[in-house]
Amino acid sequence: MKKSISPKKVVLYARVSSKEQEKEGFSIPAQLELLRNYATKNSMIILKEFEDVETAKCQGRTNFNEMLKYIKNSKECNTILVEKTDRLYRNIPDYATVDDLGIDIHFVKENTIISQNSHSSEKFMQGIKVLMARQYIQNLGEEVTKGLTQKAKDGYVTGKPPYGYTKHLNDKNTSYIDEETSKYVIRAFELYAQGNISLRALSQKLYDEGFIYKPNTPKAYKTQLENILKNPFYYGMVVFKKTLYAGKHQPLISKDLFDRTQLAFRKDNKPKHFEPREFLFAGMVKCSKCGCNISGEIKKGKYIYYSCTGGRGECEQQHIYIPEAKIEKQIIQALENISITQEHREWITQALKESFNDEEEYTKQQIHSLSVKKQKLKERIDKIYLDKLDGNISEDFWAERHNQWTQDLLTIQSNITAYEKASINFIEQGANFLKICYEIHDLYQFGNCTEKRELINYVLQNLTIEGENIHYDYKKPFDIFAKGLNRNKKLPIRYKIRNKI
Ligand SMILES: [Zn+2]
Repeated sequence: MKKSISPKKVVLYARVSSKEQEKEGFSIPAQLELLRNYATKNSMIILKEFEDVETAKCQGRTNFNEMLKYIKNSKECNTILVEKTDRLYRNIPDYATVDDLGIDIHFVKENTIISQNSHSSEKFMQGIKVLMARQYIQNLGEEVTKGLTQKAKDGYVTGKPPYGYTKHLNDKNTSYIDEETSKYVIRAFELYAQGNISLRALSQKLYDEGFIYKPNTPKAYKTQLENILKNPFYYGMVVFKKTLYAGKHQPLISKDLFDRTQLAFRKDNKPKHFEPREFLFAGMVKCSKCGCNISGEIKKGKYIYYSCTGGRGECEQQHIYIPEAKIEKQIIQALENISITQEHREWITQALKESFNDEEEYTKQQIHSLSVKKQKLKERIDKIYLDKLDGNISEDFWAERHNQWTQDLLTIQSNITAYEKASINFIEQGANFLKICYEIHDLYQFGNCTEKRELINYVLQNLTIEGENIHYDYKKPFDIFAKGLNRNKKLPIRYKIRNKI
């Protein structure tokens, strides 16, 4: 490659969120000034400056996208200057988009340059940082789950109410008994609890007795019946993430009838197949030849085999049957590639702490200055009380001041708590994440089918099967994670996070 002697041409990017706008040191001008100085010092030419101010109303990053477009079209610019990692990326998709451009990025405050020729350990570190970025970790769906759990705790079903219930337009939380379909549910429980009828026969019997499941499905399928008969909702509970909460709705059946029904499921004198085997890889892996989903089936009563469904016409892989265990073995290997040792865990934690030093410093300062304010206010409140006792000020004046300052004191205290919580949160969340990587082997081994599927979907994408071989990609930035760890299970001991420029 020809070495250019002309100065490097760059673009600058600055970003501030509405929350940060009020804080000192986070402003756009402060960021731009830092970047401009850096460019001057390194004899770079600034072609364009991009900035995004996020408000509560507008979360989009118009200028971030403009910048990417600009770089894509520009023949002379392939470098971004930005203050810190978290200014440039807000989440994994951001990281993936920028990474795909194949450009150089200077993280000025972190003294790090990432280029396409970067050492893998630098890229590895970069990936980890994004992975750990506060926003990403906090958005891991935890907030959503929290909301849903709360709803369940309050006794409301999350989402659509079960068959037999309905919701009223003016009350979206409460489930109300549906006059028509509830009769079907009650009768189904009564019949099945007797313990001498299969699900298939139950469906037929209900129909014979004149019960209609749904207009276009008059006879319910076995799985539909099973879902009804195993749902504790009908005796007044709400289930969320395998936990039962007392519901706010009116039950259709008694707990006793429900228990007898569950007992009936366990009776031996009935056909065995009402407990369907779960197919671990259902809908998850595609055929490499035709792009169809591969699907599982049970052979010889217990072994699960997968094959191409041939849904897009005749396919050469349609008649190859791959045992589930063979697929799983390869998946486990893929997951283990991102597992970390205790040593990794400590090392990454340390590196992260360093990279978030600035932020921690800021938090500490804020807590300190708030504490000073708090102390002053307390003294004032004490003093004015003495003034009142001495008769220097009126009762009214005292009451007014006292109320105002007590209010201020409470506000300050809640701000202090918020800052303390935020920094604990970040460290805690980061530690939790690393714990997952550390325990990924056990999480998979001891997980149930759903948990295993979640774990796989969390780490891998584009799963295809060719013959008996599974191909896959790691989701970003697990790719770097996997590569970085794979290459050398031992970490570079003298790897420094603050690379010299
Ligand atoms: Zn196929």
